[in-house]
Parts: sequence; C-alpha cells; structure tokens
Amino acid sequence: MSTTERPRILVVGGGYVGLYAARRILKKMRYGEATVTVVDPRSYMTYQPFLPEAAAGSISPRHVVVPLRRVLPKAEVLTGRVTTIDQDRKVATVAPLVGEAYELPFDYLVVAMGAVSRTFPIPGLAEQGIGMKGIEESIGLRNHVLEQLDKADSTTDEDVRRKALTFVFVGGGFAGAETIGEVEDMARDAATYYTSVKREDMRFILVDAADKILPEVGPKLGAYGKEHLESRGVEIYLSTSMDSCVDGHVVLKNGLEVDSSTIVWTAGVKPNPALARFGLPLGPRGHVDTSEKLQVQGTDYIWAAGDNAQVPDMVGRRAGNPNAWCPPNAQHALRQAKVLGDNVISGMRGFPQKEYSHANKGAVAGLGLHKGVAMIVVGKFKIKVKGRLAWYMHRGYHGMAMPTWNRKIRIFADWTLAMFLKREVVSLGAMETPREEFYEAAKPSPAPVAAKPEGEKAKAS
Ligand SMILES: Cc1cc2nc3c(=O)[nH]c(=O)nc-3n(C[C@H](O)[C@H](O)[C@H](O)COP(=O)(O)OP(=O)(O)OC[C@H]3O[C@@H](n4cnc5c(N)ncnc54)[C@H](O)[C@@H]3O)c2cc1C
Repeated sequence: MSTTERPRILVVGGGYVGLYAARRILKKMRYGEATVTVVDPRSYMTYQPFLPEAAAGSISPRHVVVPLRRVLPKAEVLTGRVTTIDQDRKVATVAPLVGEAYELPFDYLVVAMGAVSRTFPIPGLAEQGIGMKGIEESIGLRNHVLEQLDKADSTTDEDVRRKALTFVFVGGGFAGAETIGEVEDMARDAATYYTSVKREDMRFILVDAADKILPEVGPKLGAYGKEHLESRGVEIYLSTSMDSCVDGHVVLKNGLEVDSSTIVWTAGVKPNPALARFGLPLGPRGHVDTSEKLQVQGTDYIWAAGDNAQVPDMVGRRAGNPNAWCPPNAQHALRQAKVLGDNVISGMRGFPQKEYSHANKGAVAGLGLHKGVAMIVVGKFKIKVKGRLAWYMHRGYHGMAMPTWNRKIRIFADWTLAMFLKREVVSLGAMETPREEFYEAAKPSPAPVAAKPEGEKAKAS
C-alpha cells in the first residue's frame, strides 16, 4: 500500500462494479488527481454469466476471469477483505490474505462487494451443497460431476451408482436453469465414453419454490425453457422446496425423496453480509440504500452500486411505480459502474451528480450447446427468441460484454475450437488435493516385509 498526499478513492470489491468504476475513474481523472485503490480478496474479476459454460467445459476457466492488476495498471490493487469502515475517521480496516489487519485511510469510498448465495437453515445443506458464484465452484462442480460418472462406472453396487448419477439443482432462475442446462448437456455427452453408464441412467432434478423458472425472460419463454429442459429428461418440480439433504438424502416438500451426491444451490443471492459492519444505511433486505445518483443516502463521499446496493429504478418510477428498484444483474451493474465513476470524479471536483436511469434491454440465457432463450426489448415491443438463434444471441451478447479484448478473443477462440474438437470430458478433481500423491511417495516407507523361505511358502499354501 502506498502512502500518498493525493486524495484516495477506495473501491471495495473488484467485481463488475469495482472493475468498471475504477477503469472509468482512471480514464476521466487528471494525472495525479487521486490515488485509486481497489481491495478484493481475489486478484481477479469473475464474469459470472459464463460460470455455467465453464462448468460445462465450453470455456476455459482462466478465460472467465480478468486479472485486476493487468487491467488496472494505474490503480493500487490490494488483495484482502475490507472488514469495517470508520466513517468519522474515514478509515477502512483491511484483512490481508496473510498477516495482521491494517487501516487504510480514504477520502472517497465506492462500495461494490456484490452478493453471496442466499441460503436457508436446511439440514445437510452446508455440508452437501455447492453454490455457483465463483469460478472455483464452477470448476469444482464440473470435476465433481465427471467424477460421479467415473464412480458409477467403477462399481456394481446399484445404490452407489444411483446416488452418483442423481443430480439435484435447487433454484431455477438464470443461474440454476443455465447451470443445469449446461451440466446436463455435458454429462450426457460424456456418458457416451463410458461402458456401463448410459445417458438414460442419469437423473437430473430441478426444484424451485416459485411456480415458474427463468422469470428474467418472462412467462412465455420461461415456460418454453421448462418444456425444453423436460424434453431432455430433466425432472422439474415447481412450487416446492428442499426440506433436507442430510448425507445426500434429499427430501422435498412435495414428498419426493432421492439420494444424490450432487446438490447444487442456485436459489438466489443476498447482499454481502459484511455490509452490516460498515455502519451504512441499509434497506429492508440488507442492501446499501442509495439515491438515484448512486450516492449512499446521507453522504456525499460514498457511492454504491451493483448487487450490494438498492438503487431506485427511475424508468419504473417514472412509469408510476414508486417502489421500483433495479434488479441485481450484470446489465445494471455495468451501466451503474460507469455513472458511478463519473459521479465520483464530479464529487471530487465539486460538480453536480448525474442520475442513473436505464430501461431494461431484455435477457438472454443459454441452456446447453445450441439451446437457449432470449427476450429483447425494442421500444414498446418484447421480441422473444428461442432455440439455436437465441443461443447465438446469448453467446454474441456475453462474448462482446466480456471485459477486455484479450478475454473476448480467448472466449471466441474457445468456442471456435469447440466447433471442431470434441468437448473435454476429463475430471481433474485430484487438482483439489495436488500434494496427496507426493505426500504418499515422500512418507517414510514401512520396514520391508522379509520374504518367506521357499519351504515355508509351500507349507502356508
Ligand atoms: C451463475 C450466474 C449467472 C449469471 N448470469 C447473468 C446473466 O446472464 N445476465 C446478467 O445480467 N447477470 C447475470 N448474473 C448476475 C451478475 O453476474 C451480477 O449481477 C454482477 O456480477 C454484479 O456485480 P457486482 O460488482 O455487484 O458483484 P460481483 O461481480 O459479485 O463483485 C463483488 C466483488 O466484491 C468482492 N468482495 C466481497 N467481499 C469483499 C470484502 N469484504 N472486501 C473486498 N471485496 C469484497 C468479491 O470478491 C467480488 O470480486 C449471473 C450471476 C451468476 C452467479
């Protein structure tokens, strides 16, 4: 961390909002006007809409993340977690990856810590579930699913096989529907390489407490997405929830009970709980309360945006809904970050703040290779697209939205190669314990067992 006489703009979180806001500030700032410091426990930003495709092996995991130090060469990037904010002293406490926590003074603050998986106290969930918020989880899921195929192929125990080949996904929004679509596609593809695992041996189950899936694309396309997944053999249970999953024994409210080694939790997100220690005004669901100018209510030097903020939806409000809030998605996060960056510069220079207002442009979702749904808003019309065309739109949109040309090119190269070469179906689960084999080799060897003399061997047999 540098000590500097210049004012410090502290950006807490280097995700969508943090990365784009820092880039915008650095672009608009005069040379030496301020120090921009980005603090994040990870050294990279994750493009979350690509996590399902990374889980399916269509994109290399490294191409889904953007190294912060490379894309923000003029910023000070610190690896650590901001744990508290002292507003009176304008000081943040940072817990680095290693070592003692330290204090970091700031003049302007951007709160962009995003969201975490929203969970409930369901017996067994913490031990058995896996989320879908980070690249680690996405690749962990891929390895785990392929490992289940290896396990099922290696045993004749019917109960073990059935448990290994049953996959339960809880939550049918964007993240859940896309993840089950991609993973089911990949697993059934992979099954063709096994002798004793058939495509139809696998059971995929999607559960949601709501009465529909993919609410983001509207009821008609959501219904199409459901029918489409069902036509591929996915069992979908709506208006029900998971009561427990102790030791992988899944019990649903509707009475269904199955044993499963794979429970994927994609039932929504909640604002980062660390916000509770920041002393900022929070809304009823724990978001930082901001004005339409993205300034935290009651402050003139703190801004917030993205999944951790409740930002008024001015388009909805002008249309007569006084309670309209921006939904937590990348479409808003990206655009809010740019307005926020401009407002930080204006705030620093004493100029007026800009209002954030954005009309929904629609949504695209991929459901596996060549399958998808899309809803595009053009003026007053909503254009609905499904199937292969929607899938191309999904790829085109997200491919171009991926930050930096370096990553865009790598993603398009991954997709192009996948058109000619078959999908990788290797499980590298052992990467999670890379030292295990070496440890076994380096352990002191047990004393050698003396060979028995020939005569004794004959007696023993
Ligand atoms: C699987 C999945 C698929 C999605 N698909 C779509 C889609 O198709 N379309 C769409 O519009 N949206 C999609 N989204 C939502 C979109 O990705 C989010 O809305 C967006 O990432 C929000 O950006 P953010 O900056 O608020 O949070 P994030 O991008 O999550 O960034 C938050 C950052 O804060 C850091 N952080 C956390 N705690 C601390 C701390 N204490 N101190 C410092 N840093 C901290 C985190 O490490 C992270 O880097 C998807 C999300 C998921 C999970």
